[in-house]
Amino acid sequence: MFLATKLQFNPLAYVKKVLIRAQGPHKTGILRHFANLAVSCGFIHPGLWAILPSGPVLFYLKYMSFESLNLETPFLKAVKEEGYSTPTPIQSKAIPLVLQGKDLLGCAQTGTGKTAAFSIPILQLLSKDKTFDRKKKIRSLIVTPTRELAIQIGESLVAYGRHTKLTSTVIFGGVNQNPQTRILQQGVDILVATPGRLLDLMNQGFISLRDVEIFVLDEADRMLDMGFIHDIRKLLAVLPRQRQSLFFSATMPPEIVKLADTILQNPAKVEVTPVSSTADTINQFVYFVDKGNKNALLLEVLKDPKIKTALVFTRTKHGADKVVKVLARHDIRAEAIHGNKAQNARQRALSNFKAQTTRVLVATDIAARGIDVDDLEYVINFEIPNIAETYVHRIGRTGRAGANGTAFSFCDAEEKADLKSIEKLIGKKIPVIDNHPYPLMDNNPEKKAPQQQSRGQRPPRPKPAVTAGGSSEQPRKRWQNRPKSSKG
Ligand code: AMP
Repeated sequence: MFLATKLQFNPLAYVKKVLIRAQGPHKTGILRHFANLAVSCGFIHPGLWAILPSGPVLFYLKYMSFESLNLETPFLKAVKEEGYSTPTPIQSKAIPLVLQGKDLLGCAQTGTGKTAAFSIPILQLLSKDKTFDRKKKIRSLIVTPTRELAIQIGESLVAYGRHTKLTSTVIFGGVNQNPQTRILQQGVDILVATPGRLLDLMNQGFISLRDVEIFVLDEADRMLDMGFIHDIRKLLAVLPRQRQSLFFSATMPPEIVKLADTILQNPAKVEVTPVSSTADTINQFVYFVDKGNKNALLLEVLKDPKIKTALVFTRTKHGADKVVKVLARHDIRAEAIHGNKAQNARQRALSNFKAQTTRVLVATDIAARGIDVDDLEYVINFEIPNIAETYVHRIGRTGRAGANGTAFSFCDAEEKADLKSIEKLIGKKIPVIDNHPYPLMDNNPEKKAPQQQSRGQRPPRPKPAVTAGGSSEQPRKRWQNRPKSSKG
């Protein structure tokens, strides 16, 4: 028997103290057996438990703390104020590496806390160099594919950096550039940007990247899907060679690995969950249903009062608008968010959804990437995505940061092959709900039309029975040119 005070451990790295008691004549043996079992399962570190003289067994659970990551007081204070008690796995792995100045290749699913994993160490590194009195120069550039994501990263930087004097701003396309250029002219330490607007303002001379010390490429796979590869190449050509680079992608197909090789130097690799895995906290179900009955099924599913809010995914912008109309006809408050909507309309829809004044947000994949809604419990795939990874991204909107979530997918006969690829990717079969009023009847649909189409090409007219169809907002084929109308 030995005392806890004699244990050798880093108290900062192991913060959770747990006392377990047992009763009866064999209590010490039982507790010892229990502790050994917990060690063999990896829950506690060998040597980090002790049977106290008073009887109970004391455990130090293997929990990391923010303090153990060498974060300084302003950031420890900020994470506490954000309500974070322990770092997420990507944070515990990435923060120390970024603080050491290493390049990083991060493979992380959405909702894993990756924004803090790069934002916090960047803020700490930049805050060490006191340049506050001089005119600020852009010392860190964070490039991300969508406006929504850019805004969210901007908000995170403000939250995590609130106890520093560092400044940041966010620029994206689709809105008047003047307010953005006014802030840029005053000078900022950190710039968050979408590629289109960034290059545009660089060409107009509002932005110089000469002083960038830390460059972040976020959601690189989506960046390629949206056709931003040429913009990224242009950007790389003007970034200082001497810099720290952080590269994040939820999936790592060969093109991404190739791109990462051109950006990073001897990177440390951090992978938190295999790209194919879906969070364990998300309950997934599939309904087999005919295309023409999907609206009716959606209305049926939404009859459940437990569903306070739901994010519904359609493949197309036109389809998203159609679903909104159907729901509105049935007095369900719904709004659509997609690339054809003006920036302020998108933001308004998102705020209404967050405030729960809109019950259903209908989104296309590109618009939805990066939507961060706390307590989102339901995701409904009105259509099955034809790229399996997209499924992982879609359902990753729920079950975030350990919360529970449910994902329903409506699969018609034509989509069965896509469902199969998804199940192959995630490595499990999605349970089927067959007890519903609209079971799949038409098992022999006509041959599927090609999914990818180039911009400007007229979409096939939706058949009358098709409940959601129209102009495609599917990710563009990789390595294709970026569309003329800028996303960023
Ligand atoms: P991200 O993957 O960066 O989009 O973060 C997903 C969500 O997790 C956001 O709502 C964050 O505020 C939240 N989050 C990030 N880090 C933590 C943490 N350590 N503990 C609890 N929540 C967190």
